[in-house]
Amino acid sequence: MNKEEYSTIKANIDQLQSRIDRAAVKAGRDPKEITLLAATKMNSAERVQAAISAGIRCCGENRVQELLDKYEQNAYAGSDLQFIGTLQTNKVKYLIGKVSLIQSVGSIHLGKAIAKEAAKKDIRQDILMEVNIGREEAKSGILPEDLFLAVEELSALPSLHIRGLMAIPPIADFKNGNTPYFQQMRQLYEKLGTLQSPNVHMDYLSMGMTDDFEEAIACGSNMIRLGTAIFGKRNY
Ligand SMILES: *Cc1c(COP(=O)(O)O)cnc(C)c1O
Repeated sequence: MNKEEYSTIKANIDQLQSRIDRAAVKAGRDPKEITLLAATKMNSAERVQAAISAGIRCCGENRVQELLDKYEQNAYAGSDLQFIGTLQTNKVKYLIGKVSLIQSVGSIHLGKAIAKEAAKKDIRQDILMEVNIGREEAKSGILPEDLFLAVEELSALPSLHIRGLMAIPPIADFKNGNTPYFQQMRQLYEKLGTLQSPNVHMDYLSMGMTDDFEEAIACGSNMIRLGTAIFGKRNY
């Protein structure tokens, strides 16, 4: 990592922070209530450390193996670590004890697998329910109409703490095209917030990425997940 690479990441984060502040104020909200999570997939441990040096306090990984490799290299030192990607039940065990929050719980089946591994390690695992708000065939996540039953069922498991909702809406083909989805998410979030359960607290509404985070903040998001805007385009 050279100095220039670091300066670019730092400048990106500084600019983003002022955009977040402006979007929050415009929506009549306190900028401090919005968590900026760095989506670190495809970025080396060194680049992740650069982002943390530049002020990032929350990282999210997509793939278990990549997370374990970078974890070994101390990539996340100084930051909170979360999981945001598709998760197979047989890999859950590698995450428990390493991540503070699993954002991508898109089925009862996965929730139960997490509960089982967490119980083994005597951990109460924080999770978000992932909602397939755009009803896309190719995407994981619970359909809105199935969400309440899923939350009810998982809330009976003492090793889980349901902390909110996450969504990845369809790719919008025009500006503010995802507003209807974000608004629906906000409604689900608020409705679930009235549930009286010791294992359910709607603390996080995780939505908004590089192309639409200001729109998501306007609709009530309090956690945005940014990759490209921090690190630049990924080389797949
Ligand atoms: C990659 C990724 C992001 C960030 O996407 P960008 O468009 O690069 O900001 C956010 N959330 C999830 C789940 C991701 O996989």
